Amino acid sequence: MGIIRHTKSVKSLIQAFNESENAISVAVLLKRFKEDMNKTTVYRILDRMEESGVLHSFIGKDGDRWYSKYTENTSASSTISHPHFQCDSCGKSECLTLDINIPPLPNHKVDSASLLLIGQCQDCLIEITQ
Ligand SMILES: [Zn+2]
Ligand SMILES: [Zn+2]
Repeated sequence: MGIIRHTKSVKSLIQAFNESENAISVAVLLKRFKEDMNKTTVYRILDRMEESGVLHSFIGKDGDRWYSKYTENTSASSTISHPHFQCDSCGKSECLTLDINIPPLPNHKVDSASLLLIGQCQDCLIEITQ
């Protein structure tokens, strides 16, 4: 495991992430590749890409799963993941390059944490203030 065979489907998905600066929701991916691959294939490739550390995922405000590439600033090394931001107006989601420190919890072991900040993104804020 860990090695992804670069089939045509895998390449299309990798390309979608390379072309996008922001996270992409599973719903969007399923719609985009509806003609080329079935749902199971999309889910399976996303799982593999996450397992091999190419992508990471988080749950958006509507319970949708979003996938995003790792960048220099959002490395996979930390067990506590970086926070994400979702825009309430346009729905865009992005990785935030911030370190959130989770305080130690006595008598608990924390394996993962997720923080989703919801608000207005830069583009939507400009529209509101104009
Ligand atoms: Zn927005
Ligand atoms: Zn992220």
